[in-house]
Amino acid sequence: MKSNDKPLIVITGASSGIGAATAQLFSEKKHPLLLIARRIEKLENLQLPNTLCKQVDVTSYDQLQEAIIEAETLFGPADAIINNAGVMLLGDIATQDPLEWKKMFDVNILGVLHGMQAVLPGMKERQRGTIINISSIAGRKTFPNHAAYCGTKFGVHAITENAREEAALHNVRMVTIAPGAVETELLSHTTSQEIKDGYDSWKKEMGGVLSPIYIASSIWYAYNQPQGVNIREIVLAATKQQ
Ligand code: NDP
Repeated sequence: MKSNDKPLIVITGASSGIGAATAQLFSEKKHPLLLIARRIEKLENLQLPNTLCKQVDVTSYDQLQEAIIEAETLFGPADAIINNAGVMLLGDIATQDPLEWKKMFDVNILGVLHGMQAVLPGMKERQRGTIINISSIAGRKTFPNHAAYCGTKFGVHAITENAREEAALHNVRMVTIAPGAVETELLSHTTSQEIKDGYDSWKKEMGGVLSPIYIASSIWYAYNQPQGVNIREIVLAATKQQ
């Protein structure tokens, strides 16, 4: 890597929605990227320069670590990871398939922890780096049929803040981004049609939700501060969202 080159940024869940918009933005800012998701064809279709696309399931620490080592060999050390991969399977605790809870905890919590551990030793050694975890406004307040999802996102807030206090001693920054509703594929995996219809009506009533580009911009804002400035948390939502 030449001294004036921008450092490597790792983005998980970059095949759609917030992750894809964030990949586009960091690429426009000339960062080399490691993009991670299971649908590799969607990563490759973004056609971003200086980008390694890897088919990785973030629930596997080994797959994630291997991809990061390969990208660091190509582009130099990762200066940031954006742990964005996530799933939202809304449901009523009384009736929801427990496997859906497991999936959310595996991806939304363990996936985030895997991403943190894969880069943190190198960042501590270099005494710089930024870990940005995508939580949700559902990590700060509750919503109908969100109990397990809220559990994962409250967890992301707690994990990030606790890890921030420890990483601060090594000049490593930790950021929580908490978006309100955003227009992406996220809702499509919920299995109850009734809950999906209710969510869609709620979005219409508030006059629409945010575009992913606003979340990407908030991630860029937090990352782009000097290393001595840690934006700890950003909460952003459509103005009319409660
Ligand atoms: P999308 O469904 O559009 O994107 C989710 C991304 O996560 C996809 O790229 C998907 O890729 C990836 N992903 C899911 N499971 C895995 C896995 N096991 N391994 C690797 N990648 C995985 O939704 P969003 O863009 O909305 O979601 C991004 C993040 O933003 C999530 O953490 C979500 O909870 C959070 N968020 C979203 C809000 C919204 O209203 N949309 C509001 C608040 C927070 P693939 O399927 O190819 O693996």
